[in-house]
Amino acid sequence: MNIDLYDVIVVGGGHAGCEAAAAAANRGSKTLLITMNLQTIGQMSCNPAMGGVAKGQIVREIDALGGLSGVISDETALQFRMLNRSKGPAMWSPRVQSDRWKFAEEWRLRLEAIPTLDFFQDMVTSLIVEDKKVKGVVSGIGKSFYGKTVVLTNGTFLNGLIHIGEKNYGGGRAGERAATGITKDLVDLGFEYGRMKTGTPPRVDGRSLDYSKFEEQKGDEVPGKFSYTDTKITDQQMSCWIAYTNPEVHDQLKTGFDRSPMYNGSIQSIGPRYCPSIEDKINRFADKDRHQLFVEPEARGSVEMYINGFSTSLPEEVQVASLKKVPGFENVKFFRPGYAIEYDYFPPTQLQHTLETKLVEGLYFAGQINGTTGYEEAACQGLMAGVNASLKADNKPAFMLDRNEAYIGVLIDDLITKGTEEPYRMFTSRAEYRLLLRQDNADLRLLRLGHQIGLVSDERLAALVQKEADIKELLKIINKESVDPSEINHLLKELGSAELNQKVKAKSILSRPNFTLNHFSCCPLLWEKINRFSDEVKEQVEIEIKYSGYINKEKDNVEKAQRLSDLKIPNGFDYFKLESLSMEARQKLTDIQPKTISQASRISGVSPSDINVLMVFMGR
Ligand code: FAD
Repeated sequence: MNIDLYDVIVVGGGHAGCEAAAAAANRGSKTLLITMNLQTIGQMSCNPAMGGVAKGQIVREIDALGGLSGVISDETALQFRMLNRSKGPAMWSPRVQSDRWKFAEEWRLRLEAIPTLDFFQDMVTSLIVEDKKVKGVVSGIGKSFYGKTVVLTNGTFLNGLIHIGEKNYGGGRAGERAATGITKDLVDLGFEYGRMKTGTPPRVDGRSLDYSKFEEQKGDEVPGKFSYTDTKITDQQMSCWIAYTNPEVHDQLKTGFDRSPMYNGSIQSIGPRYCPSIEDKINRFADKDRHQLFVEPEARGSVEMYINGFSTSLPEEVQVASLKKVPGFENVKFFRPGYAIEYDYFPPTQLQHTLETKLVEGLYFAGQINGTTGYEEAACQGLMAGVNASLKADNKPAFMLDRNEAYIGVLIDDLITKGTEEPYRMFTSRAEYRLLLRQDNADLRLLRLGHQIGLVSDERLAALVQKEADIKELLKIINKESVDPSEINHLLKELGSAELNQKVKAKSILSRPNFTLNHFSCCPLLWEKINRFSDEVKEQVEIEIKYSGYINKEKDNVEKAQRLSDLKIPNGFDYFKLESLSMEARQKLTDIQPKTISQASRISGVSPSDINVLMVFMGR
């Protein structure tokens, strides 16, 4: 056998590449990870943090499916916070401040521990494709690697161009070369491509800052974690700090605007609207006289600090002069200036739900190459592409997630159905069933599927089955047991909740807004029954009861939508023969080739009346 015949070849060792390689290799596929620099595997290009609003939910989902981002984030966390605790559970979002050095090291070590994974350091410069099927890749030194499938995860490296003020030079990330060759190959194969841009803030010497002028932001007193496995999170949490810009800072920044490529129009490509540069913020929110900056540690033991909120491509001297006017930064010393980067991406409407390209069989794209931004977005695509490439190599059916099953399902469906005109990041508002897709229940939603695809162990599955049984039992107790006024009225009074005149079911008291399961500790007999369950089980039951009305309504909506999903559209359907469809709909439907009426209904430019035409044609 040719020693270089792989089941799966993963190109790139960023967040998408790492998850893809781990998923394929952990499934048992003979996998190769080829990346430009083995030293930068698992590198965080921008902020040293994982999770956050909607992104934290994705990390939990990756963990439930058997991916590694959650485990590694826990093991290398400097600080943990559950964001949005004051809102409903659909909005709770875990986030860690990460030790950037340890994060990358942990990824490398975890990958090295997988026996079916090989490594090679070089730039992939072209693809081997025959009869519209991928056969392998060729690296810069002219070495060919053959594989049944290839996953491209090139991130911001494809023809990357770095800008700092008027200076620009080729690069995939500060200090690293741009990747060339692949874009040309793909364009020759018929792929469309575009350019996007993003920016990053300066990193500074923490010893030059005056922390007495900042607000301290500590981690949660009782830190949570991402992984459902027994990972440990640090008990030595580090603080982040909050600083503020002011009109003087803004005036100083404005002196360089004409030399900022992000701002003066010399970069034409589209950047992330919701992650704007400081130049953009000052311009777009001209009425605001201050903006928040987060001063975040990069690694334990290092003095380097990341200035979150100050992303910029202004000339270095303007960056320094402006930051010096922020209270606490008067004596700031720079380690690295902020910069902007432009790179090639491939509109994701050219992909199937499996992340395999429509044009070349066996070729998958994952991560920033698909027009997304963010580590979590990249990592989950990597996991899905890695699993699917591995399944394809085994001639097994593909693995896909629906919009009602996971944020990952929402992300992939959005990308391939709607495409993206600007760097795509996840928001809770993108998920129509966000009350079902919570961070707390990712294991209940997905762990079984993780087991089916071969990434979750039997032990983890057994623990899930036990947890499900416990939830059922505790729900039964809360639904059945009653509470006596004499036991609970003093507490209800304290909480400002109506007192009882007679015995009432525990369930109806728990439905009250400010009442939690732990409050039942004032009812000794009932508490004895409740308290033997784990905190995770209690949390599920509490959410299930408190939000049952909303949850059930959302489940009804899922069922209704499911009926549309069940209406399949035949492969290669000729939309141009349906003259009652609008011309725009005919064109978009032909390009995207939706699999179901439900997917067709989400394509921009396809109106409800177009959907009616389709339904009538399909006999509905
Ligand atoms: P990357 O993490 O970019 O990894 C790509 C990998 O592929 C690298 O290991 C590289 O060496 C390798 N590679 C590339 N081409 C080849 C080749 N031809 N052959 C072999 N190996 C190759 N995200 C946010 O959410 N918010 C932000 O504000 C933000 N700002 C950013 C600012 C900058 C300057 C940069 C560079 C990125 C920023 N990001 C931001 C994006 C974030 O870093 C990415 O979304 C994420 O890292 C994408 O992961 P990925 O795996 O797709 O690609």
